[in-house]
Amino acid sequence: EQQPVKKVQDITSSVVDTIALVTSGTAINISYDIDKEIPTVNIDKAQIEEVIENIAVNAVQAMGGKGELMVSIKSVYLKNKEIGQLKEGNYIKISISDTGPGIPKQILDRIFEPFFTTKENGTGIGLAQCYSIISKHDGWIDVETKEGKGTTFHIYLPVCEECQ
Ligand code: ADP
Ligand code: MG
Repeated sequence: EQQPVKKVQDITSSVVDTIALVTSGTAINISYDIDKEIPTVNIDKAQIEEVIENIAVNAVQAMGGKGELMVSIKSVYLKNKEIGQLKEGNYIKISISDTGPGIPKQILDRIFEPFFTTKENGTGIGLAQCYSIISKHDGWIDVETKEGKGTTFHIYLPVCEECQ
C-alpha cells in the first residue's frame, strides 16, 4: 500500500542514512556534496528510500564492494523540458556516482526494463521500480556512464512550492 505523499524536509537524512546502511561493512569510501538549503519535497519517504537503496546496492555490486561512491544533493532550476519530460521549475537533484566498470552501450537503453538483468542471481526489478516510483512523484531518473570509469544515476524531484 502506498503511504500518503507528504512534505518531507529531511530528504538529506533519508539519503545519507540509506547510503550508510547499504555500504556498511564494505570497503567503499563515500563523499558527499550537499547544498546547505535543501527545499521541501512532497514524497513518500519509504519509496524514495527504496529508490536510493536500489541504486546504492547496484553501485556496491558493480564495484565489488570496493571503490568510491559520490553522493550529491542540489537544488536546481530547470527550464521547460530541459531534462526528460519535466516541466519548468525548481527541483532537487540527487546524484549517485560509482567507480565501477560502467554500463555497456549495448544494454544502456534496457536497464530500466522490468526483469532486465546481467547478474547471475539478479531479478532486474530494482531499476524498473526506481523508474516507476520516480515517475509517480512527477520526477525523472536518468543515467550517465562511461565504460571503465563508472556510472552516475541522477534523480530529479519537484520542489513543493507551497511548502516553502
Ligand atoms: P539487478 O540488480 O537485479 O540486475 P536492476 O534493475 O537493479 O536489476 O539493474 C539492471 C541492470 O543494470 C544490472 O543487471 C546491471 O547490468 C545494470 N546496472 C545497474 N546499475 C549499475 C551500475 N551502477 N553499474 C553497472 N551496471 C549497472
Ligand atoms: Mg539491482
